[in-house]
Amino acid sequence: MYDTAIIGGGVCGAAIAMYLSKYEVRCALFEKENDIAMGTTKANSGIVHAGYDPEPGTLMSALNVRGCELTEELCTTFGVPYRKCGSMVVAFDQKDVEHISRLYERGIANGVRGMRLIDREELLAAEPNLNPEVRGALYAPSAGVVNPWRFCIAMSEAAAENGVEFYLNSEVTAIEKITGGFRITAGGKEYEAAYIINAAGIYADRIAAMVGENDFKITPSKGQYYLLDKNQAGLVNSVIFQCPTDRGKGVLVSPTADGNIIVGPNAEKDNLPDDTSTTREGLEFVAAEAAKTTSKINYRENIRSFSGLRANSDAKDFIIGESPVCRKFINVAGIKSPGLTSAAAIGEYIIDVLKDCGMFMTEKKGWRVPEPKIRFAELSPEEKADICKRNPKYGNVICRCNTITEGEIIDALNSRIPPRTLDGIKRRAGTGMGRCQGGFCGPKVHSIICEFYGVPAESVLLDREGSYIVCGKVGERE
Ligand SMILES: Cc1cc2nc3c(=O)[nH]c(=O)nc-3n(C[C@H](O)[C@H](O)[C@H](O)COP(=O)(O)OP(=O)(O)OC[C@H]3O[C@@H](n4cnc5c(N)ncnc54)[C@H](O)[C@@H]3O)c2cc1C
Repeated sequence: MYDTAIIGGGVCGAAIAMYLSKYEVRCALFEKENDIAMGTTKANSGIVHAGYDPEPGTLMSALNVRGCELTEELCTTFGVPYRKCGSMVVAFDQKDVEHISRLYERGIANGVRGMRLIDREELLAAEPNLNPEVRGALYAPSAGVVNPWRFCIAMSEAAAENGVEFYLNSEVTAIEKITGGFRITAGGKEYEAAYIINAAGIYADRIAAMVGENDFKITPSKGQYYLLDKNQAGLVNSVIFQCPTDRGKGVLVSPTADGNIIVGPNAEKDNLPDDTSTTREGLEFVAAEAAKTTSKINYRENIRSFSGLRANSDAKDFIIGESPVCRKFINVAGIKSPGLTSAAAIGEYIIDVLKDCGMFMTEKKGWRVPEPKIRFAELSPEEKADICKRNPKYGNVICRCNTITEGEIIDALNSRIPPRTLDGIKRRAGTGMGRCQGGFCGPKVHSIICEFYGVPAESVLLDREGSYIVCGKVGERE
């Protein structure tokens, strides 16, 4: 029997797994998809929020501010792309000026450090491409941007390195209460665990219902984005938020941790949980709203549009704690924004929740940080020459947009939670993330995966189950 079973391999499940791996605890993580970071964690704004938004006194406010600190620390430890670029909430009229003053007060109450209300001149000096009609902004230097899936993968690999067992393609379909814990059916097999942590994102209400809890409902809300090429870097230097209006919360324009520019999201209510399509209307709305921030967005440089689903619940705060109807079953639910920022703090907090629920935990000696991966493009010319001499696969550039080599793809395939799809390699090594979006490197990555696993071309997928790339040789089909 496992001591703990985590359901969901998003950023929250990953953080919980990583913190649990610091203790002498037998832990399993079940993920329904063929990889981790496949839910909301792979499609969001990637902002590490400073913490002036949540209502003071809520769990969300405490976890946001703590998470902001921890995310920076962990990204440094694991070598995850992260930039502490700060954020600006921009005011255009008197109503906005009052709004940013209220946010400032809220930030002070939440313990956000270093915030300042800045005037128009200072704002335009820092952000010369903004609409000149700006009146000022709330500046929060502790905010930043992170690559969300790399953050999730890094924490998952640290957890795996330190003993957590990951079960992919293992959808939890039933949970039964047994003496001393639970019997869990996942991917058609049965497992037992003393405690369950429900971190199933937009499906968390369905998992809770499996133990008879129907106290909350998750209603997915879609947000759509544009992602601009790296040649647009410098359009804005920090995360630029608008103040909310009656048309919505306002879209953001921001650098990403990988050097692109992101524009979005909108907010669409009552989405189907599997609908991550983008629409003309949604993207037109985003572009129209973003024009208020700056007229200089060049949509011809858009390299990808995508959408993500918020796990909105009927509760105002995050739903974190032991279920009111089932002992030893812990919900980590309704983790909407700032859930990415808060994830590490949620992981840390869950340790206390488990202790309060009666779990006995002793710290593990010799917890290890996984070996950092080689990022060829970031090496000096001398380091590049040296590594190519030692392993010529690092001299074979596969992704031309981002200079990613065969050696790095093989490293990704050899990682603790090995990917089997093109997008799994993309999330680890960064192939297919440049201007050509995999047009050039995709077939090469496909061949490398086939050769590495010794599998036929037809069996290698782009991403989710069913996303096949080739279905046979030309001329061989009737
Ligand atoms: C448009 C948008 C913008 C956002 N922007 C930001 C931002 O800038 N900053 C920020 O801090 N937060 C942001 N967020 C919020 C943040 O992305 C989420 O809070 C966070 O990713 C939630 O992580 P999670 O692990 O709870 O959920 P997920 O990442 O969805 O993970 C849940 C996992 O559970 C798995 N699962 C579900 N059911 C089962 C089952 N039955 N069995 C096994 N596995 C199962 C899923 O496949 C999934 O992988 C944004 C969200 C959206 C949608």
